[in-house]
Amino acid sequence: MRFVWVLFVGALVLVSCAASVETAVGSRSASSSSAAVSMTVPPMMSSDISVSSESSPEEIEAKLQAMADSDFEESTNEYHSTASCDNQFPDAKTISVNKFVDDLADVVDSVEQRDIYDFVTLDGTRSRLGPRAFWMQEAFEKHLANYEPSEFAETRLGEKSFLWSNYIRWREAVCRAKSGNGSIRDSVVEHGRFTHYRTDWPGHASNWQPFPYLDIGSQVVAAPTINGLEHYKKYTAGAGIVIVGGAEVPDAAMLQARKSVVYQTSARPEFRDMLIDSRVRISLFASEDTSGLPEYQGEFEPGGFAQGLTDASMTANANWVCFPGNPDRGGDPILHEMVHTLNHVVFEQLNETYFYERIYKLAEKAIKKGVFIPGDQYLPDGDEAEMVQWVGEYWATTVEGYLMDRAGFKNSHDTREWIERNDPDLYEMIVRYFPTAPWNFCPEIPSGS
Ligand SMILES: [Zn+2]
Repeated sequence: MRFVWVLFVGALVLVSCAASVETAVGSRSASSSSAAVSMTVPPMMSSDISVSSESSPEEIEAKLQAMADSDFEESTNEYHSTASCDNQFPDAKTISVNKFVDDLADVVDSVEQRDIYDFVTLDGTRSRLGPRAFWMQEAFEKHLANYEPSEFAETRLGEKSFLWSNYIRWREAVCRAKSGNGSIRDSVVEHGRFTHYRTDWPGHASNWQPFPYLDIGSQVVAAPTINGLEHYKKYTAGAGIVIVGGAEVPDAAMLQARKSVVYQTSARPEFRDMLIDSRVRISLFASEDTSGLPEYQGEFEPGGFAQGLTDASMTANANWVCFPGNPDRGGDPILHEMVHTLNHVVFEQLNETYFYERIYKLAEKAIKKGVFIPGDQYLPDGDEAEMVQWVGEYWATTVEGYLMDRAGFKNSHDTREWIERNDPDLYEMIVRYFPTAPWNFCPEIPSGS
């Protein structure tokens, strides 16, 4: 593993969501998603490991540790190309590694510049929107169909060092996503590992071993020990999402986080396989800000931030969550950041054009109508996104209000009834993705108080 500590600039990307287009991402059963077909040791899939409802916490913890150790072992294996992947790119022309990585950088740059869904915000700033992960996968496949580097020993180009084994690891990930046996997220993370693209952000997933996913029901157990992530002592999981916290995070906050994401994803359970495969994790903290977390030293977000596609996790301040023993009136960082995370992880991989084509107009309409004031909503919640992010914030904030459904917890869009009456087109969009069944959020604070 390699850690470079540089200021984080890029990860607060814009929203992206929806599910109308045929997906290129196969949904796999519960899995250790980095399990490559090419490894010398057969990967242990999470689906091979089950816990029964009678399993004791100690048995669950032993299983989690075995899964984590198996993931570690895989990551240290030599990666080899497979015939099935070679067969997908039969006409690739052999070029030098220098040319291969230079051209690949141009390909990635052109995807970053693609502006089909971009818009200019009310203050005149251009804002980015679109399924960059989906586009990136398409571009990777095309590049690999056209070119392959001649086999190279460790090669330094400028500041960067390129390894053949990382090239193969990335190429295999592209193949798995192409054939529906893996996630686009893997392919994009492995591209980062191979080319160092944006891996100077310390929270890049290639810098950290993922925690294994095991739905253990509504309970908290000891987190498996993972190199560099020993800070995390507590573990739970559900709805395709791993939740970990340090010793200072109350169990009740862990369980509330689980309850919230299980509810939040209940209308679209098919998203959960994608969340597992994309290694979605919530890092809860109960300190002043995110800088106490091992992956985010130097990041001082008080409320937390979303998981971008290539991030190790999303973060949320447990003190800002309403749970038994901690009545907290106001925004909820779990629900809010998970809306962003679903955009980055699910909508971007699914190429959710339905969402991309509509969200800007909805936000613009709400602002012109005066029912949503950019900046008014999210800044008190500690989200330091710039104004340029307001379309993303419009979506995350209003869905957060919809999900909580508690009068007065947000400045607008605080109840379903309010949203349906004042922002009906948005309401329609929200119920496309999120549950309509009522639940009882934050009963510690009685209504009307
Ligand atoms: Zn936000």
